[in-house]
Amino acid sequence: MQPELKSPAQSDAALRIRAIESLLVEKGVVDPKALDILVDTFETKIGPRNGAKVVAKAWSDPEYKKRLLADATAAIKELGFSGLQGEDMMVVENTDKLHNVIVCTLCSCYPWPTLGLPPIWYKSAPYRARAVSEPRSVLKEFGTEVADDVEVRVWDTTAEMRYLVLPERPAGTEGMTEEQLAELVTRDSMIGVARAQAGPTLFQPR
Ligand code: FE
Repeated sequence: MQPELKSPAQSDAALRIRAIESLLVEKGVVDPKALDILVDTFETKIGPRNGAKVVAKAWSDPEYKKRLLADATAAIKELGFSGLQGEDMMVVENTDKLHNVIVCTLCSCYPWPTLGLPPIWYKSAPYRARAVSEPRSVLKEFGTEVADDVEVRVWDTTAEMRYLVLPERPAGTEGMTEEQLAELVTRDSMIGVARAQAGPTLFQPR
């Protein structure tokens, strides 16, 4: 970490976290090895790249897509992604007549095994309220125009059910391999605030 790049508030928070971690380890409340495993899990094992693999497989394999839409939890587990906050999954498919968006109006429920941890804006009060009351305006702010004849459906994630959007496969990607297709799938396209794009996705954090 380069301290000069961080705001005073962030460095303060980092220091506090380190102090709390030291105390918890010192008192024997947590095992440092368990902490390392947890950190490694969130840094390298879960995240939107997993969700992208699910989407790319669904785009390439019609039988897999059927299974995914019928029982998302099982189909996602086939690819090795399961666990905490992904126990009960539902995949909702975008089409030329339907655009799905995911929110958690109550807090920040989110499918961890396939998308990782939620972005800050997902947890913000304005997104949580406005995604329901004026989804088309919110989508517009994300740069996603949805035509008037396309239904926008908002899915409220809860502790009982986590959603993942299956974005539309971009045109012109017919010859692509599953790996190449996965590169087109952004986190935001699986939340439903963006579309998967055939070109480079320079302005969308993955
Ligand atoms: Fe929640």
